[in-house]
Order: sequence, then structure tokens, then C-alpha cells
Amino acid sequence: MIKINNNIIKKVYKKIKEYQKIIIARHVGPDPDAIASTTALRDSIRITFPEKEVYAVGLSVSKFKYYGILDKIDNENYDNCLLIVLDVPNISRVDGIEGLNYKEILKIDHHPAEDIKGPVDWTDETSCSTCQMIAELILKTPLKLDTKIAGNLYLGIVSDSDRFLLSYTSNKTFQIVHDLIKASKLEFTSLYNYLYDRSLDEVRFQGYLATNMTVTENGLGYIIIPSDIIKEYNVDLATPANLINNFNFIREVIVWTFITEDIKNNVYKVSIRSHGPVVNETASKYNGGGHKYASGARITSKEDIDNFIKDLDELCENYKRASISNI
Ligand code: AMP
Repeated sequence: MIKINNNIIKKVYKKIKEYQKIIIARHVGPDPDAIASTTALRDSIRITFPEKEVYAVGLSVSKFKYYGILDKIDNENYDNCLLIVLDVPNISRVDGIEGLNYKEILKIDHHPAEDIKGPVDWTDETSCSTCQMIAELILKTPLKLDTKIAGNLYLGIVSDSDRFLLSYTSNKTFQIVHDLIKASKLEFTSLYNYLYDRSLDEVRFQGYLATNMTVTENGLGYIIIPSDIIKEYNVDLATPANLINNFNFIREVIVWTFITEDIKNNVYKVSIRSHGPVVNETASKYNGGGHKYASGARITSKEDIDNFIKDLDELCENYKRASISNI
């Protein structure tokens, strides 16, 4: 019998035990952390409690099919279920819960808290990924682990921490990864292809971004990507966000942003990264949010794009000035 020492983990486990029907959802436009945490938690609950009905919902993304097939269910048949939301703090960005009359909501997330508030809320902004939290949950409770679940969690952690590069990578991250590999005997090096395989078109598109990105005197790197370019390079609207971390460690750049035209939905999808100024407050001014140093936004007018670029440039200017006066 495992003794659960951590209070919030105990509460999460108790809630999972309590419900017969559980729906697990994550944010729209999922990344490997969102998808892998969802399928890993679903599969762990399924093998631990075979009598429960547990489904992972949301739109499938074919390039992430390695992590497991998502479930197509009729939400209207799941009244009174427990809804577990992973990797998302705001209800408007939860994918696949239309018409679901859930009884309680339980959140597990590493983003700053927003409007989702349930009786059990496990928010840990110090965690590098939601997969790190799910791995901790499984390792510290009677929830079961198998090699596939461990592999999904490992890839989610590696992806969201950008191979243990980003600042929320901690000794706890390494401890959990150690325990995960030990408990599952995971052969992790063979998994990287699922994360890093990419087309030559994508590599060429990355070259386009590097060549055409404007860098201001204050250290803001930005590029507005027209939909024609997305078409010309044979990539998709999610590609800029997938590539943005590759632009880290450029000496002249403090904050960088990719602004991608989504002509079908009449919106610009924005990704922002920073290795200095906090950017999620600026993102939230433009219909966005996210982490302090990795955020996203949605902008609909050209005027707002100009304002947004100006705001980020000012952030960089102030940051530079403050850094100089601290010397
Ligand atoms: P991305 O650049 O799309 O990888 O997003 C970076 C971070 O910002 C992720 O944690 C997203 O969940 C978050 N994010 C992206 N777009 C939005 C948005 N429109 N509103 C709130 N958070 C967002």
C-alpha cells in the first residue's frame, strides 16, 4: 500500500477514485505536453481502474498520433462526470467539452492560474510541464505506469522544457525523470524521433524566418508571416510556434515573436518568447496569456499588431535600461 504524503496529490487521487465517469481535456492547438499528459493520465487510470469509463477528448492532431488515439464521445451522455483539465488555466481554451454537463472540474496545470476553479486545483507554476506533474502523480499514488505511459510523459517533459533548457527545469524535474525511467525501464533515446522528426520544407521555412526576422535596436525580434508564405513552404499554421524555441540564444535578441496570418479565421496567431522581460502581461492585453517567458496571443487588426510590436519593443527597451543601471 502506497502512503501518499503530498496533500494536493492525495486530493487529486481521491477525486479520481471517487468518480465512475471521467473526461480528460486540454487546450486548443495542443502541443506534445498537452496531448501526452492527457493520454498518459487516461491510460494510467484505465489500467488502474478497469471498471471506470475514462476518455481523453479534443481534436486529434495527426502528427501527434504516436501519443495515443483520442476518444470520440457524445458529451451529452456524460452528465455528472468528473472533468479533468490539463495544461490550461482558462475555460474558453479547453478543447472538446461543448455540451458536457460535468459535475466537478479538477485542474492540473503549470500555467499561472486564471478562471478555472474547482474543488481540487493543482497549479504548480514551478513545474516545467504538465507531464512532470502527471508523472509525479502516478509515481506517488497507486496509479499504474507502463512503458508507453512513461514514454509519453518523458516526451512531454523533454518537449516543454525544451530538452531541459528552459528556466522551470529543476532538480525536481531530473528527480522525476530519474524515477520515471527507473520505474518503467524506459529506453528513452529511441523516442526522440517522435519529437524531432521534421520535413525539409520545415527546415527551409526556418531559414526563411531567420532571414526575414526584423531585429530592433532594443532587442525585439519579430516577423509577420503571411499565409502565402505558409503555403509556399508547404508548412502549417502551427509550424511557427513549433520552431520558435529554436531562436533562443541569439545574442542580439531578448524577446522574439512570430505573428502568423490565419486567413481562414481572420486572425493572427502570435507566439512570444523571452529570455528577460516578462511577456505574459503584454500577451493578455492582446487576447492571450501563457507563461512569464513563453506566451501566445490572438490579434485581429493590423493596428493592434503595430501596437503589440511597439509594446514588446518598449518592454525590451526598459529591460535593457534596467540591466545597464544595475551594473
Ligand atoms: P505557443 O507559442 O503557442 O507555444 O504558446 C506559448 C504558451 O502560451 C503556451 O503555454 C500556451 O498555452 C499559451 N498561449 C498561447 N496562446 C494563448 C492564448 N491565446 N491565450 C492564452 N494562452 C495562450
